[in-house]
Amino acid sequence: MTASEPGVPSAAARAAAGSAGAADPCAPVGLSEVADLLILGAGPAGCAAALRALQLRPDARVVLMDAADFPRDKACGDGIAPHGLDVLRALGVSDAVAGYRSVDRMRLRTPGGAEVATPCRRANHVVPRTVFDARLVAAARARGAVLLRRRARSVVAGGSVDEPVVVVNGDLRARVVVGADGANSTTRRALGIGPNPPEALAIAVRGYADAPHTSGPPEQLIEMTDEGWPAYAWSFPIGDGRANIGYGMLRSKLAALHGDAAGRTVLHGTLARMLPDQPAHPGTLRAHHLPLSTWRPRQPDGPVLLAGDAASLINPLTGEGIYYALLSGSLAGAAAVTATPARAGAAYRKALDRELGRHLRHTALLAGLAGRRRTLMDSAVRAARHRTELYDNLVEIGLGRGTIPTASVARLALRKLALPG
Ligand SMILES: Cc1cc2nc3c(=O)[nH]c(=O)nc-3n(C[C@H](O)[C@H](O)[C@H](O)COP(=O)(O)OP(=O)(O)OC[C@H]3O[C@@H](n4cnc5c(N)ncnc54)[C@H](O)[C@@H]3O)c2cc1C
Repeated sequence: MTASEPGVPSAAARAAAGSAGAADPCAPVGLSEVADLLILGAGPAGCAAALRALQLRPDARVVLMDAADFPRDKACGDGIAPHGLDVLRALGVSDAVAGYRSVDRMRLRTPGGAEVATPCRRANHVVPRTVFDARLVAAARARGAVLLRRRARSVVAGGSVDEPVVVVNGDLRARVVVGADGANSTTRRALGIGPNPPEALAIAVRGYADAPHTSGPPEQLIEMTDEGWPAYAWSFPIGDGRANIGYGMLRSKLAALHGDAAGRTVLHGTLARMLPDQPAHPGTLRAHHLPLSTWRPRQPDGPVLLAGDAASLINPLTGEGIYYALLSGSLAGAAAVTATPARAGAAYRKALDRELGRHLRHTALLAGLAGRRRTLMDSAVRAARHRTELYDNLVEIGLGRGTIPTASVARLALRKLALPG
């Protein structure tokens, strides 16, 4: 379908309405029409998909559907890596972190007493997701995406082999659907793909607290603990007098150490114990799952694509997921409007592998090693204190698309094989 069909607003008209803030988020969008792209979930992955699709095909009919009203909160550390801003810049979004200062120092502490606090080569930002995500939604609407407030309950691929049509909730039809509906993705279930197993699924609680008073420059603190290793607490100053604080660990470790029922008590209690000087403001503690990329489902062929957390794209070493959500969403949006619907899944799978395949394989190797032998993290952090290039590479691996230097891959793989478990 094209924007020139009767009854269908052109992309330009939709963009004008969106940028003026005049579009009704629940506006009827001609449910009898087939959208070119229907995106389920308007977080970073979903917005990036919409922005990229409309960048490549401004006349495409793109619908962005979310169960929540924006602005909405999302349990998150709110840490935005510079790599995510690179993706946004390429998508034509330059104001996602406007008004928030950058933080270029990170302090890493390991349970074995190793510590490094060095400026990163590129600064991070800490922007509450209520603000960051709403800005992305506004940018997608300004470009012409139609925002629908609705929960996806069913996703059914039908039509013919040559002309597939995906039907959502029985009444919304699209040539291609991007499932960007987060860690508990309905789209993923509809594809018959189960959740991550507990050893590749983390859970973390986030709160807001007063930022620590320090005379030095602001820094992001990551304090690891061997209780339930690999696990860590964080404190990320926002710049408005508050810090985002939190604590996370693997579900498998939580269950093994405490049993599943104790989750809330353990997460809240450990956070309070690890950051005693930063009690969480009442009512701000909120937990959510993190599907780690150590167990990624294979993107199927066809017209239903998974991006961001729905595709288990969270870095297993750091829990960072916004950059990967933006990048995968952008690639999914491109595949959706450049490949035929029947080939969209394969095209997206290839693009994702090209961009992130090596990085994902290497982070899986490192997470396997570090998870079994905590002292490796102590050694890495100790060495990074004295070797800037190693520190920079660790940051790239944890926050971006960094890889292990070729000379070390075989040695590390052998080391992993030799470790028990
Ligand atoms: C406690 C915690 C701390 C974290 N800290 C960081 C951090 O500091 N930095 C970082 O980079 N990453 C962090 N992450 C990971 C990061 O939050 C995610 O990777 C990121 O939000 C993924 O973006 P997404 O667009 O895939 O999914 P989401 O941001 O989860 O967005 C999914 C959207 O889909 C909507 N939705 C869900 N189900 C449906 C449905 N059925 N129908 C319609 N809409 C639906 C939701 O309302 C939501 O708006 C953290 C995660 C947690 C849990």
